[in-house]
Amino acid sequence: MYCIFGQVVNIIEALNKKERTFSFEFFPPRTPKGMVRMYKTARVFSELGADFFSVTYGAGGSTSKSTLEIVKEFQGRFAKPAIHHYTCVKQSPNELRLTFDEMRRSDVRNILAMRGDPPKDEPYYRPAKKKELKYGYELIEFIRKHYGDWFTIGVPGFPEGHILTPQKKLDSKYLKVKEDAGAEFVIT
Ligand SMILES: Cc1cc2nc3c(=O)[nH]c(=O)nc-3n(C[C@H](O)[C@H](O)[C@H](O)COP(=O)(O)OP(=O)(O)OC[C@H]3O[C@@H](n4cnc5c(N)ncnc54)[C@H](O)[C@@H]3O)c2cc1C
Repeated sequence: MYCIFGQVVNIIEALNKKERTFSFEFFPPRTPKGMVRMYKTARVFSELGADFFSVTYGAGGSTSKSTLEIVKEFQGRFAKPAIHHYTCVKQSPNELRLTFDEMRRSDVRNILAMRGDPPKDEPYYRPAKKKELKYGYELIEFIRKHYGDWFTIGVPGFPEGHILTPQKKLDSKYLKVKEDAGAEFVIT
């Protein structure tokens, strides 16, 4: 178990504590006014008993700083687990290391690890061979290789099939690959 100011922040413990939990996902606001409103809203949800929060990550890292700041604030203000979404698309191994080092320094523990979608202005983008990760499971392997069990890792799940999947049943196979690589929970 690990704690911040005496509060449990491990998402798995929060999920195991009750039969049914509920959470809210936030998109980092673009303006200072939006930030203030978001924290006020999150406080209301927290007081209503939300079990945890998650914060999205803009395509290609466009919200990387604000996602991290919001996750830290949520953990500190509400003493509840917060999940940092993360997409590895267009990130080199060095960039990945810098980002995860910073998350670790900031005591971020819970990650929703994804490959992410190609950038909107590059719909035919393909990862650079050997320099970028191709699939979500490779990101999980990368995190486990370099950071051991520091992070609790979740993955996105697609009950109706991922939009690019040629066959729906392949998705459950790929989900198992992610579990074997070290994923511990799924958010659909
Ligand atoms: C709960 C949730 C939260 C999300 N949050 C964000 C967010 O904050 N920011 C954001 O940009 N996006 C977000 N997304 C969207 C997500 O990034 C995209 O749906 C992305 O395309 C899928 O990422 P992935 O890690 O599941 O991809 P992958 O697991 O890499 O899958 C991508 C494609 O490759 C195929 N595939 C997977 N593994 C293999 C394999 N081993 N061999 C061959 N093919 C394979 C899959 O079938 C799929 O078609 C979220 C989605 C969900 C469900």
